[in-house]
Amino acid sequence: MRILKICEYCKNDFIARKTTSKTCSDACAKRLYKLNERNSKIAQAEMKTEIRRSPAAFITEDQIKAIQAKENLTLSEAAFLLNISPLTLRRWILSGKMNSIKIGKKHSIRKEDVFCRNTQLQ
Ligand SMILES: [Zn+2]
Repeated sequence: MRILKICEYCKNDFIARKTTSKTCSDACAKRLYKLNERNSKIAQAEMKTEIRRSPAAFITEDQIKAIQAKENLTLSEAAFLLNISPLTLRRWILSGKMNSIKIGKKHSIRKEDVFCRNTQLQ
């Protein structure tokens, strides 16, 4: 098999023998690997800075476990499980797309309802 491809590292055309080939040579493959390594390290470092800057915006694994153990969730917990913003969820509640129980000023959402909604979306 011979396929004309563009090297992901040096951007030159090359003839690939496999569809999975990404680079024109071993040298480019090594350089691309190093570049990807570096980029993922930078991304990780940026993520850590982001978390330090606004810890409330990120949910840790322990918090996820805690949410999963709960029967009733807060607006932000339910929004997190639904992978939507708390603002969107608030809109869903107001339009009747999501059931909620109002406790004082706070919305309480049954986890059951969150998971029902999740399966409907999929
Ligand atoms: Zn190359």
